[in-house]
Amino acid sequence: MSTEPTIVMPAHGAPSYRPNWDQYFMKLAMLASERATCPRMHCGCVLVKDNHVLSTGYNGSLPGTAHCYDDGCLVVNDHCVRTNHAEINAICQAARHGMALEGSTAYVTNLPCTSCAKALIAVGIVRVVIFSSYHDSLAERFFQESHVELCRLPMPEGIIHYDLKEFSSARSFEESERENHAGESCSCQHESY
Ligand SMILES: [Zn+2]
Ligand SMILES: [Zn+2]
Repeated sequence: MSTEPTIVMPAHGAPSYRPNWDQYFMKLAMLASERATCPRMHCGCVLVKDNHVLSTGYNGSLPGTAHCYDDGCLVVNDHCVRTNHAEINAICQAARHGMALEGSTAYVTNLPCTSCAKALIAVGIVRVVIFSSYHDSLAERFFQESHVELCRLPMPEGIIHYDLKEFSSARSFEESERENHAGESCSCQHESY
């Protein structure tokens, strides 16, 4: 049998939808937002440098403490104060792992609030990418004063595409079991929350 490779061109060309870098990192931020624990807001943040993800965050309670969805929001002046915002959690995550954020880009689902904007500026973020606004924020003013670039992106297609049937080399677990006549089940503990 020859081991000489053959070039096989895709039958239907390139996929109609392939996210560019900004859309890709924004989709990761949207995915992070799905972990949010407060019903008043779902926000996700991904901190990126040289197309490399340094840290991610979503608005959520302090580690090990009650979630708003379980124990209710802790409201002061019409703001829920139980959670850290996504940007702060992403910065804290980077701090825990000793990651410098100088010169990086923040992908955030929404315009940061005033406090988060100031924190992003202070850790050396140079570009902020968003696809929606926020009800109460002086972020734009602070970004402008500190020469942080603010980019408004149209919301990338929200759905994450993965069609097992589309790829000739992909197998569902069930198909794979049938083909190999051997069932392997994993012993992972799947947490629901
Ligand atoms: Zn809340
Ligand atoms: Zn904030």
